[in-house]
Amino acid sequence: MNRIQHSPSFAAGDLDEAPVPHVLHDPDTGLPWPYPTTPEPAFVSLAQFLFEAVAETTDGCLVEPDGVCQHGHPSWLLRLGVI
Ligand SMILES: [Zn+2]
Repeated sequence: MNRIQHSPSFAAGDLDEAPVPHVLHDPDTGLPWPYPTTPEPAFVSLAQFLFEAVAETTDGCLVEPDGVCQHGHPSWLLRLGVI
């Protein structure tokens, strides 16, 4: 049996490694958000964004947790559907 080792597998208890589906459009305007220019932050960072009420956007700017920066990039919390 020739199994492909690179395909992502979803295992219980391995949620940190599971890909999070991105929200691709602004739910208010229906307009597509630009593709992220910074790497997706770790889950612990997302929790910190909420705690500190300042979130990083997908291009590295800092906005309110549910904010969008002047370049049109949403916070990672919006992008990842956390809020
Ligand atoms: Zn920006």
